[in-house]
Amino acid sequence: MSSRSDVIALQSVSHRYGSGRNAVTAVGPVDLTVEPGSFVVLVGASGCGKSTLLRLLAGFESPTQGSVEIGGAPPTPGVSAGVVFQQPRLFPWRTVGGNVELALTYAKVPRERRAERREQLLDRVGLSGMAHRRIWEISGGQQQRVAIARALAAETPLFLLDEPFAALDALTRERLQEDVRAVSAESGRTTVFVTHSADEAAFLGSRIIVLSRRPGQVALDIPVDLPRSGVDPDELRRSPEYGRLRAEVGRAVKAAAA
Ligand code: ADP
Repeated sequence: MSSRSDVIALQSVSHRYGSGRNAVTAVGPVDLTVEPGSFVVLVGASGCGKSTLLRLLAGFESPTQGSVEIGGAPPTPGVSAGVVFQQPRLFPWRTVGGNVELALTYAKVPRERRAERREQLLDRVGLSGMAHRRIWEISGGQQQRVAIARALAAETPLFLLDEPFAALDALTRERLQEDVRAVSAESGRTTVFVTHSADEAAFLGSRIIVLSRRPGQVALDIPVDLPRSGVDPDELRRSPEYGRLRAEVGRAVKAAAA
């Protein structure tokens, strides 16, 4: 499990792109504290600043106002968080295993441990025995699984996902949602997941943050008490509790975007 030192703290965070007449304030002000091990979903209409918030957490951007801290220090790109984007962004000239191994190399995993660790990670994302396949030989869903394994390779305190399943068909998306839910619970890592889908938010989150329209602010903060493990995902999706939550999130997203 993560330690208390992995608490995420956003204080009066705003972010603006550009300057003068072209300035766009994408986010803020946002105050938010995230406890280690939570699965936080940021949900809101397109353009409300979700990806900007995620980039601030990853350290890809610095806030124009306020502070972002992970365990008391600003995030370091590539060190504080493993990130999965909408597109897998894999190296096509490397094999499935080669893509994961590269991340292990960057994470300074000793050479003699890399093969074993690579297999563990591929196993965890349902790609056992596929290390030698080429990227172009596997499906879009499998490519996104490789991207997830790669993001988990560096044992960062944070696991960030930015609409990772938006480009996938509905069935593949559901499978991957189930796997990400399980992988996150099993790793104990703090996860922040961006989506515009109320269904996805309700299924995944242990806490759902609904953002207002741009500049994104916290419109609603919903704690979720659906079971996190030991439950059949299809049963969970059919349960009245999930149905109610999905409807609540859907209404809140609509109201926040108005
Ligand atoms: P979301 O992820 O909710 O769709 P984004 O964070 O991508 O929202 O964008 C929020 C706002 O910031 C949008 O109006 C978008 O056009 C603007 N924006 C995002 N990235 C940049 C950038 N690099 N330069 C200028 N404006 C940007």
